[in-house]
Amino acid sequence: MKPIKNVALIAHDNRKQELVLWLQEHQTKIINCHIITTGTTGRLIEESTDLKVERMHSGPLGGDQQIGAKISEGKVDLLIFFWDPLEPMSHDPDIKALLRLSTLWNIPIACNKSTADFIIKSPLMLDYHRDTPDFEGYQTRKV
Ligand code: PGA
Repeated sequence: MKPIKNVALIAHDNRKQELVLWLQEHQTKIINCHIITTGTTGRLIEESTDLKVERMHSGPLGGDQQIGAKISEGKVDLLIFFWDPLEPMSHDPDIKALLRLSTLWNIPIACNKSTADFIIKSPLMLDYHRDTPDFEGYQTRKV
């Protein structure tokens, strides 16, 4: 059994404050995790908490895609993504792709504070074996 240790954090502009407040409340639980963020989210997190993060590009510049790539490489254990349900985004296809890859690779995803609370307070944070889907058959299928 392994702890959840690679956490991706992303928030759209209208939800960044909500994510920062949530992290200030829970940072002791993830301070020992490797945290990956999109650019602006990460800067704000470092300015507002004691957390150190690995920053990708800003979301609209490809940051969501970079995090998606890490998910497909098995380098993300948990995605907390406070996306904005009220504003259209220029990089909507990237957001959709990130959510698709998280679902495909069986990554726990929290898109709102309630779900993030459930996850962060779960004993499974410390002891969880996530099944990694086996796509061998898919990759070797005859076309
Ligand atoms: P940002 O990107 O952290 O650079 O604002 C988030 C996003 O828009 O996906």
